[in-house]
Amino acid sequence: MTSEWRRRDGRIGVLTGAGISTDSGIPDFRGPRGVWTKDPIAELLSTYDSYLADPELRQRSWLARRDNPAWQARPNAAHAALVELERAGRAVTIITQNIDRLHQRAGFAADRVIEIHGNMFEVVCVECDYQTTMAATLDRVAAGEADPPCPSCGGVLKAATIMFGQQMDRRTTVAAALAAQTSDIFLAIGSSLQVEPAASMCAIAVDAGADLVIVNAEPTPYDSMATEIVREPIGTAVPRLVAEILG
Ligand SMILES: [Zn+2]
Repeated sequence: MTSEWRRRDGRIGVLTGAGISTDSGIPDFRGPRGVWTKDPIAELLSTYDSYLADPELRQRSWLARRDNPAWQARPNAAHAALVELERAGRAVTIITQNIDRLHQRAGFAADRVIEIHGNMFEVVCVECDYQTTMAATLDRVAAGEADPPCPSCGGVLKAATIMFGQQMDRRTTVAAALAAQTSDIFLAIGSSLQVEPAASMCAIAVDAGADLVIVNAEPTPYDSMATEIVREPIGTAVPRLVAEILG
């Protein structure tokens, strides 16, 4: 029976992708109406080697960060439903591909959110340990520094996100794999499941005995492993599934 997973006790792992944030006004970069589909330069802005090599590209990047819709975005019903799951006393860990911090802004415990692609609200130096906030760095941009260098070593600054061609943070990847491996229910929400290491988290969870539930409008490479596949819009599907789990 596909409905029986709802009754399972134990840990819940949740993997979220861009699809959970589109209702909050943050476009899906890869989707048919995605930013990269419309503007190939936008993809170059997220490529590590290009970013390091080209000051003009970095100037464009700071402006794109300033104009990112995540500054205005608010968590939606799906983010809120996952908070309810945690507040009801269930052990939940979220692994997110999103850099928008909407899970935390919805009220989900920050230490239970694993940001495998980093986040856009912090800034790091590529040369040294310097860290600061995006808001403080954008203040420097507004004050006239088109490509603000690291105040500590003069190196290149970037958002604390994982760009194309950049190494994932190993500790973060291990934490995500552990969360998948110890899940009894694993919900994959709004991810095309085509980018590693996020995609293989589903296989890790299933191999360890979890029921995999995929909530995504389009088919994914992991559909054949899923206990249940939900094509309903995320904004209604996630609150419904959470109510059924808690019911
Ligand atoms: Zn530095």
